[in-house]
Amino acid sequence: MSAGSMKVELRDGVIYGPVRSRRLGRSLGINLLPASAKFCNYDCVYCFFGPTSVSPKQRRDSSCPKMGDIRAAVDSVVQRVQRQELKVDFFTFSGNGEPTLHPEFAGVTHYVLEKLSSLSPAPQTAIFTNGTLLGRTAIRRAISRIDQAIVKIDIVDEVSFRTVNRPLVETRLRDIAKAVAQLPNVRIQTAVMKRGGVLYEKAAWDYYCSLIKVASPQEVQLYNVVYPPAEEGVEAATIDEIKMLAKRLRGRLRVSVKVFHLTES
Ligand code: SF4
Repeated sequence: MSAGSMKVELRDGVIYGPVRSRRLGRSLGINLLPASAKFCNYDCVYCFFGPTSVSPKQRRDSSCPKMGDIRAAVDSVVQRVQRQELKVDFFTFSGNGEPTLHPEFAGVTHYVLEKLSSLSPAPQTAIFTNGTLLGRTAIRRAISRIDQAIVKIDIVDEVSFRTVNRPLVETRLRDIAKAVAQLPNVRIQTAVMKRGGVLYEKAAWDYYCSLIKVASPQEVQLYNVVYPPAEEGVEAATIDEIKMLAKRLRGRLRVSVKVFHLTES
């Protein structure tokens, strides 16, 4: 498979899994995005879905699943959990891109969280997000009600951000970090890779550390890139290199840092 081509199949429904997650245990995914194409406002060089073909500028949010379909899918899976046909540790908003791009994200999360609260014990909830829409009060409020908000910030400065995460909308990492600081439930996730054989440039590392300081998350999660990055000269870091970075980060900031070794399986 050539670099940059599709590496993981898109989710074809609202609910998928459960998948065994290293961070979340037995996790059932909630996909609020279209089934036909990845829908994201980033185009990260290491994205396991391959390149972003549909950006928000193309106004594809109309192809996101409708509220009625989401309710039906969630009701059905909650019934299965109630009947003990399904065992789940986490319900996770993730799927085919950036979940907060769903046009009714706040209403959807409200519905899902209310529904899950009827279960005993209630499963925990998580969201994987790039944090670009955290400046919007309604989205920030909705995310504050989710148990774990796992927000992406990589080891970049505002310049290398443009070549690693390749945002398709105007956004600044500093603004994301400031919005994260207003939330009580954030873990920052950071994909670690080498560019031109170098683990990170000093300017990017210093800037990243300043962002973590501003964001003040509960935890930082460093992880390896599993699939070959799409950009030439970008390669995965080894686990030993990532552990070394974790030690350096703990030494520089008083923050909890965990290393996750992700695999293709
Ligand atoms: S934010 Fe996530 S879904 Fe979007 S391009 Fe990056 S890795 Fe892929």
